[in-house]
This record gives sequence, structure tokens and C-alpha cells, in this order.
Amino acid sequence: MFDNLSGRLDSVAQRMRGQGRITEDNIQETVREVRMALLEADVALPVVRSFTDEVKKRALGAEVAKSLTPGQAFIKIVQDELVRVMGGEAAEPLNLSVQPPATILVAGLQGSGKTTSIGKLARYLREREKKKVLVVSCDVYRPAAIEQLETLASQVGVEAYPVSSGDDPQRMARKAIDHARRHYFDVVLVDTAGRTTVDDAMMDEVKRLHRAVDPAETLFVVDAMTGQDAAKTAQAFGEALPLTGVVLTKADGDARGGAALSVRQITGAPIKFMGLGEKTDALEPFHPDRIASRILG
Ligand code: GDP
Repeated sequence: MFDNLSGRLDSVAQRMRGQGRITEDNIQETVREVRMALLEADVALPVVRSFTDEVKKRALGAEVAKSLTPGQAFIKIVQDELVRVMGGEAAEPLNLSVQPPATILVAGLQGSGKTTSIGKLARYLREREKKKVLVVSCDVYRPAAIEQLETLASQVGVEAYPVSSGDDPQRMARKAIDHARRHYFDVVLVDTAGRTTVDDAMMDEVKRLHRAVDPAETLFVVDAMTGQDAAKTAQAFGEALPLTGVVLTKADGDARGGAALSVRQITGAPIKFMGLGEKTDALEPFHPDRIASRILG
């Protein structure tokens, strides 16, 4: 991700070498390079603007440490700002400290990797956090989606609450949570129906489901490969639901990484995990600082 930015910044930073300070003059070109690189990485335009404005402001006010060239100092400022916008140093954990079972509602477009991510999260919670996990599919319109979740659940060794196509999503979610309460599950992962594009019916349903289950976590799943569209989808889901986190999927693909920056900035919700493949172990907590270093090479 973001290979571009690293290459571009290196070359402009080279050119800044020999100049003693960061000034309005010598920063023009570098800021332009950052803007171009972010646009090429598919970061949404308003996010690019606010990012470059902030970088410029910080750079102009910055003292350049004696040990650094202005170019190096500038790269450090860009890197710090990337980390800041993506949520700071540490990975944000799931907040499951509620009266069990903690419910995690998972929303996103069809094909974004919702169901796969639920399988991965179930495995992660069971293996790493020693939680007793129940999954339930509220995608009652697609028998294949229900089946897919059941298959994943058995693969990762967690229980799937039985659902048939045509059942009422809110009722099934409530029943699953009730089952979880009676059988001492720690976590219930709720899969929701997606559509291929944002539409009112989908948003209304997921909002109703949110009210019905009152989740501890409301996660938005977004495909890193969708670039500019990821920003638009994030906006729609962020307006419809009080998101508590994001799962950025397909970060293993050749996406240019812009989605990470846009989605975080637009929703205000931390990216908590990223998906790095199709298998159930291909999930990692999202570390903004590591991503920022990778971006800058
Ligand atoms: P849903 O419709 O949102 O539930 O999407 P699915 O979970 O069915 O995933 C859609 C496709 O994306 C499937 O082929 C998944 O294997 C694939 N997929 C999901 N997450 C990832 C990921 O992190 N990396 C890659 N490479 N593929 C993924």
C-alpha cells in the first residue's frame, strides 16, 4: 500500500537537502507531491485537502532538529500526521466489557467480506481471547449467505445459531442473543444483509437491527480495493449507524491504501482489524503506526 508516497517523498526530500529550513517556498513542491500521491492512492479529495493543509501548517511551524535535513523533518511530519489521522500508535481493541453476551453487529456492502470477516473474528476471539462465540446470520434473503456462515463457524469451531431463509432478521438476532445468554456465551457476532450498493431498504433494516440488538460493537466492513467508493460507502454507513470500528478487508490486494485514510477520517471510527486474505487466520489488528511506516517505506 502507498508505495507511491514513499517514492515521491524520497525524491523531493532529496531535493530539499542542503536547504536549512522548511519555508513556504521550498514546501510548495513537497506538499504538491503529497497531494498527488494521496490522490493516486485513491484517498477521497476532502480527506486529501485536510491532510495536506494540516501537514503544511505543522511543517511551517516546525523546528528542524539539527540531526535532520529539512527533507527528513518533512517526511517525519507526514508520517506523524498519517499515524494521527489513522488513530494513533496502538491498535484499538474490541470493547467487549459489557454484561455478556457482548454483541457485535457487522454491516457493510455485499461482497465487502462481511461474512468472511465474521469467521475470522470468531476464530480470533475463540483462539486468542478464549471467548465462547456464537454467530448468527441475519442475511435471511440469501440462503447461500446463511450456509456460508454455518460452514465458516464449523471450520473455526464456534456455534452458529440456526436460521432459515425467510426468517425475520430482528427476531432471529434477539433469539440468538437470548440463546447466548442462557448458554453462557461471551460474544454474539451478528451478520447482516448487504446489497451491492447503498440503498434505503438495506440501511433501514440494519438500523432496525441495531436498535433491536443494542450492540457493544458496531463494525463496518469495507473493501480496501474499492478506493473512492469506499469513502462514499463509509459516509452512508457512518450516517446510518453509530459505528464503533471498521474492518478493512482485502488489504492483501494491490489496493493503494487510500481507503484506510478516507474511511477513518470520514467515519471517525477506528480501523480495528484488517483482512489479509481469504483464509480464517488472515486477520490482524490494525496498527496505524505500522501502516504509516509501510506507507513511507
Ligand atoms: P460478504 O458478501 O460481505 O459477506 O462477503 P464475503 O465474506 O462473502 O466475501 C466476498 C469475497 O471476498 C470472498 O470471495 C472472500 O473470500 C473474499 N475476501 C474477504 N475478505 C478478504 C480479504 O481480506 N482478502 C482477500 N483477498 N479476499 C477476501
